[in-house]
Amino acid sequence: MKVTVFGIGYVGLVQAAVLAEVGHDVVCVDVDQNKVDNLEKGIIPIYEPGLTPLVKSNFEAGRVVFTTDAEKGVKHGDLVFIAVGTPPDEDGSADLKYVLAVAQTIAMHMQAHKIIINKSTVPVGTADRVTAKVTEVLADLQKSVSFDVVSNPEFLKEGAAVADCMRPDRIILGTSSERSEKKLRELYAPFNRNHDKIIVMDVRSAELTKYAANCMLATKISFMNEIANLAELFGADVENVRKGIGSDPRIGYQFIYPGCGYGGSCFPKDVQALVRSAKGVGYQAKVLEAVEAVNYRQKEKLFDYIMRYYKNDVAGKTIALWGLSFKPNTDDMREASSRVLMEKLWEQGARVQAYDPEAMEETQRIYAGQDRLSLMGTKEAALNGADCLVICTEWQAFRAPDFELIKSKIADPVIFDGRNLFEPALISEYGLHYYGIGRGQSI
Ligand code: NAD
Repeated sequence: MKVTVFGIGYVGLVQAAVLAEVGHDVVCVDVDQNKVDNLEKGIIPIYEPGLTPLVKSNFEAGRVVFTTDAEKGVKHGDLVFIAVGTPPDEDGSADLKYVLAVAQTIAMHMQAHKIIINKSTVPVGTADRVTAKVTEVLADLQKSVSFDVVSNPEFLKEGAAVADCMRPDRIILGTSSERSEKKLRELYAPFNRNHDKIIVMDVRSAELTKYAANCMLATKISFMNEIANLAELFGADVENVRKGIGSDPRIGYQFIYPGCGYGGSCFPKDVQALVRSAKGVGYQAKVLEAVEAVNYRQKEKLFDYIMRYYKNDVAGKTIALWGLSFKPNTDDMREASSRVLMEKLWEQGARVQAYDPEAMEETQRIYAGQDRLSLMGTKEAALNGADCLVICTEWQAFRAPDFELIKSKIADPVIFDGRNLFEPALISEYGLHYYGIGRGQSI
């Protein structure tokens, strides 16, 4: 099928590559010329396991092309995806300017029926706004072309995006058009073989489903962080509590890990956006407000530990930091907990020596010119001359380090672990102090 994808980011690029892989004919449109030029040279703008070979092989086979030519893109696809960013506006609500700009572009160039599919995460009612925008532009241009707007939110996880798109848990289609449903069922048939994963619903419910999913996941994290903070004060170990409650199948073991807060491009902005949308309809979303507030506080947790340990004076200290990305297997630094920690340490006059398996380039781009940051080539090099070690991201490569080496390299024998990677008893055998999240210890 002929498909066009507007927006070559985490969602658009992965979606395009996966659709091309099963044989669809995909044109990707982005406004970023540099990104398009790089993709044509085989330079993939993001790190995502399995993505580079997938994009390269499908590009070489001519099944996916990259362009800034929106007219070419609109002409090509019977199905046109909108996969552009929906960043938070100043008040936390989702900024729809990119989505509506694409809607306008599609309307300007369309000459035949289009199914416009919204993959971006957007507030309830956005499909209506896209419909209104396209209708308005068509009327201005005195064109009479039919179209349909479908909501098809994306549920991929960064770090496992290719696998998630190849084997989705569910495919949500928000549409009341039988014609569009049929076309989308055909498009997704290669991913829907084992059992029917397609759930069809009205557009508004589909739009809300995406927010509800992310808000539920964020709620699980903030809930566990709340319990961890209590565990710390009560002298209990949240890791025991986690295992204890996870054994109840109504709760389950998934997604109940405490830590130094959630980040990324989705949870923080989507929780905020739903809080704002709720306000817009006169409702105070109290649970979600608390989820956001707990996370905000949790992102300062490691900094608070370090300040207490050093009696509020870290000026001149060098902090070794393992993990920069907001989670493992990605180079995405958006809203990463490491950023809150580093920026607060710099304010206090400390230096940071950091290592991350994938996010160094992105960190360098964000903090170019920051002379209190040194990016080191290995996790061991980050320890050289450091006073203590802090862990912000649970990369596999950090799970079984050489504790003797750590002890020999850092001036003060202490690890602050924002992801509870280690057993406190084991670490103390090496003569190291250990502060995890909610492990029954407080400074
Ligand atoms: P991104 O910032 O990585 O990519 C967006 C791309 O859109 C950029 O390349 C940008 O240049 C391009 N763009 C902006 N305006 C454009 C226009 N007018 N025409 C063509 N291209 C344009 O964003 P992302 O992380 O892929 O997220 C996209 C949407 O998907 C968001 O709404 C996000 O909430 C949602 N989402 C993201 C994830 C995720 O894990 N990143 C998962 C599910 C849903």
